[in-house]
Amino acid sequence: MARVPLDLPLRCRCGHLRGIASDVSPSGGFRFVCYCEDCQAFARFLERRDVLDPAGGTDIFQMPPGRVKLTAGTDAVRCLRLSDKGVLRWYTDCCRTPIANTAASPRFPLIAVIHSFMVHAADGHSRDEVLGPPLCRIYERSAVGPLPLHAPAPPSLGIFARRAAKMFGWWVRGLGRPSPLFDERTNAPRAVPRVLTPSERAAL
Ligand SMILES: [Zn+2]
Ligand SMILES: [Zn+2]
Repeated sequence: MARVPLDLPLRCRCGHLRGIASDVSPSGGFRFVCYCEDCQAFARFLERRDVLDPAGGTDIFQMPPGRVKLTAGTDAVRCLRLSDKGVLRWYTDCCRTPIANTAASPRFPLIAVIHSFMVHAADGHSRDEVLGPPLCRIYERSAVGPLPLHAPAPPSLGIFARRAAKMFGWWVRGLGRPSPLFDERTNAPRAVPRVLTPSERAAL
């Protein structure tokens, strides 16, 4: 069994950007698989379809921003928006690793860390042991293939309620800040978001 919670190393594929996610445990976050069009377009933009599962899903762990630190290579952090209202999608310029999604403002106490930025099994613990299995899948209508047999269930109302309660708890305990992806003083994103035009988005 994993000793959880634990500190989990974060690393882009080439190792330039590194960080640490602290106090990670199944109850310390919210893991799900997203099959939405935009997550798939993000992977295509990065030419990293390898981060998607065979049905086009992205394995994501939402956790409090205050528990995520970037320790090296932050010059490679870049930010993309698929539209002018979209979430901020963060990646590295060095090796085009998707790292996280966030709201446009650091006031929203959540960072959605993408599996490709998390290092597992360095200490013998699998992703399932450290984060727990995914709690649900979302946007499965945009899946591009049959879902895996072991795919998590669609979300229930109870799951959304639990997620909201968790987020509120993080906010109350001050874990919403600081975000590693925003300037603590000005609240500005650490990289100026590149916003795709509708035709750039359509071409993805
Ligand atoms: Zn890299
Ligand atoms: Zn998505």
